[in-house]
Amino acid sequence: MEWQYAGKSDVGRVRRSNEDSYYADPERGVFLVADGMGGHAAGEVASEIVSETVGPGIGQALEEGLRDEALERRLLDLISESNTGILRRADEEPDKRGMGTTLTVLVLLPEVGRYLIGQVGDSRGYLFRDGELSQITRDHTVVQQQVEQGALTVDEARDHPLSHILTRALGTEEQVDTDIYSDDVQPGDMFVLCSDGLSGMLSDERIAEVLAESGGDVEEAGEELVTSANQAGGQDNVTALVVRVTE
Ligand code: CA
Repeated sequence: MEWQYAGKSDVGRVRRSNEDSYYADPERGVFLVADGMGGHAAGEVASEIVSETVGPGIGQALEEGLRDEALERRLLDLISESNTGILRRADEEPDKRGMGTTLTVLVLLPEVGRYLIGQVGDSRGYLFRDGELSQITRDHTVVQQQVEQGALTVDEARDHPLSHILTRALGTEEQVDTDIYSDDVQPGDMFVLCSDGLSGMLSDERIAEVLAESGGDVEEAGEELVTSANQAGGQDNVTALVVRVTE
């Protein structure tokens, strides 16, 4: 298995600072997006803490040869460690009280031809395969709960004024509950990890269209996703990490 990636992050058209972070270790196949909250100088600290803890930590775990359940356990431990790190920092620095972050991390496992995703919050992981886009992750938001109960449609949820209210995030409670997803990878698969500044601005149909039009060019896809989100209003910081499995 080989892959290419492109990461793009932009402040958007409304916000004054970019609280999103992303991390890529293309050699080991570790990619993550984190969307910080809590205001300038707080949200970006929270998203950086998780990026710098989980990203290199998983790279190290892969180097150590951890796989399967041991790797998953390490991932959960690293996420828990970053949660504690955010809480501690917020406790020490009053201007950072209440800061938090989402996390969506993708790990590619070439020996077994699979991927592993860990997710907390509303940053998404999508898979584009054979011209079809599917959302791998499930948002941890009040609005998503309403979608699942049938009270809102997916389109209503995207524009909903409460769409940013999270039911889970890092930095809010002592314990963190992480969702894990794992499945097979096929040549040609494109993964998109993104903050809600992308998924809140663009429908799945539009994301699929951009990926199809890119012809598999990850740079072009990443650039066009961010540009399209800004053209649609750019209401929030927008981050897109595009990873394409080439063989
Ligand atoms: Ca956001």
